Amino acid sequence: MRTPVIAGNWKLFKTIAEATGMVNELKPLVANASGVEIVVAPVFTALSRVSEALSGSNVRLAAQDCYWEEEGAYTGEVAPKLLADAGCSHVIIGHSERRQYFGETDATVNKKGKAALAAGLTAIVCVGETLAEREADKTFSVIETQLKGGLTGFSSDMLAHSIIAYEPVWAIGTGKTASDQQAQDVHVFIRSLLAQMFDQATANAIRILYGGSVKPDNVKGLMSQPDIDGALVGGASLKADSFAAIANFAA
Ligand code: PEP
Repeated sequence: MRTPVIAGNWKLFKTIAEATGMVNELKPLVANASGVEIVVAPVFTALSRVSEALSGSNVRLAAQDCYWEEEGAYTGEVAPKLLADAGCSHVIIGHSERRQYFGETDATVNKKGKAALAAGLTAIVCVGETLAEREADKTFSVIETQLKGGLTGFSSDMLAHSIIAYEPVWAIGTGKTASDQQAQDVHVFIRSLLAQMFDQATANAIRILYGGSVKPDNVKGLMSQPDIDGALVGGASLKADSFAAIANFAA
């Protein structure tokens, strides 16, 4: 009942020509992928041209971040409605690299999430523990704090228009994937916490993605877990063939 989502986060990679070239290569490779939502997240400067290149395809467009104000004297920021204007349907919020390098907090994630939803975008809200937190047995408490802070003031309807991405920081870009069971355990925790914070029906319906070194050869195992509803993919999303192999996990 939950349509899986496979989202590619291209981070700070690819010129406009490289990004449009990549989606032109990707489109035929995923044209027959049914029952899965496929999303790519290029850099801001490529969004509009990638949107044109994706027109008529089954691949959707995401931004990697947004600001929470609609307009104003906020040099360097991009508002959610401008992302929608550029062709985005989704926006990634609270990625661990933003938390680690750019001062993102649960409070800013919260403001960004609300602004994204108000602009009609689907918010992909990222949470995840560091290695030190996992080793100190704090995984669940860290995730709980991030979700409670990030989703403060959300209604069930707002949650229903969001996607959660569980991305253990120690697995991002390290080649170290959480085991299928480690990921499933955290996804179950997230879903039960959302049931407490909202309601069971909304928690049952929300997609919870796993992110952290997802590759063509480990995606099937992860996706066979009952509470893993998709993947947020970094490195392996940068090449059309590997991202297509992940998006076609069910084939
Ligand atoms: C990410 O950037 O969200 C990510 C999961 O990266 P990677 O797949 O490279 O670990």
